[in-house]
Amino acid sequence: MTAVATAAVTAMAVPAGAQAATATSTSTVATATTTAAAEDVDYDTWQADCQALMNQALPYLKQRIAATKPGEKQAIVLDIDNTTLETDFGFSYPQPANKPVLDVAKYAQDHGVSLFFVTARPGIIAGVTDYNLKYVGYKVSGLYVRGLFDLFKDVAAYKTAQRVDIESKGYTIIANIGNSATDLSGGHAEKTFKLPDYDGQLS
Ligand SMILES: [Mg+2]
Repeated sequence: MTAVATAAVTAMAVPAGAQAATATSTSTVATATTTAAAEDVDYDTWQADCQALMNQALPYLKQRIAATKPGEKQAIVLDIDNTTLETDFGFSYPQPANKPVLDVAKYAQDHGVSLFFVTARPGIIAGVTDYNLKYVGYKVSGLYVRGLFDLFKDVAAYKTAQRVDIESKGYTIIANIGNSATDLSGGHAEKTFKLPDYDGQLS
């Protein structure tokens, strides 16, 4: 087995919960420092926690985008519910953007980075989801929703497979941003950013 293959297998072997528990001091995983216990979550707390994490993401992305290699096609993978959109705090359609994430996404898309959205939402609502993302300001290069047979798969494995597909199209995934451990486990991203889900309270 080559060193690269060994590293990949090692990365795949990390349990889903392990990354969420990793401290922000590691170089490859940034995790939101939550300021409230799960039962105390309110909108302002959630927004402050999201902003704090995106305050780490933006300088990283600025540096990484500035260091684009010749011919490199950069991509960011994003979860949708309670990552790019305010799902559990939004009571309207279209759902509002999660503003701290939108601000970072806009910087990236304005600097040539393609945004790919990978969601556990079923394919039947792909159209309204695509419309919603574009309506609030995201530039959608690709939207991956779960097909009929994907619904029976493990969410983390499904999401990892979509990142492999994006890489197979020639993209380098410079960041993967989500709020559930299953959004981020499985590798295939240079850096992951874990927004709060308050022990699974936010989808
Ligand atoms: Mg989510």
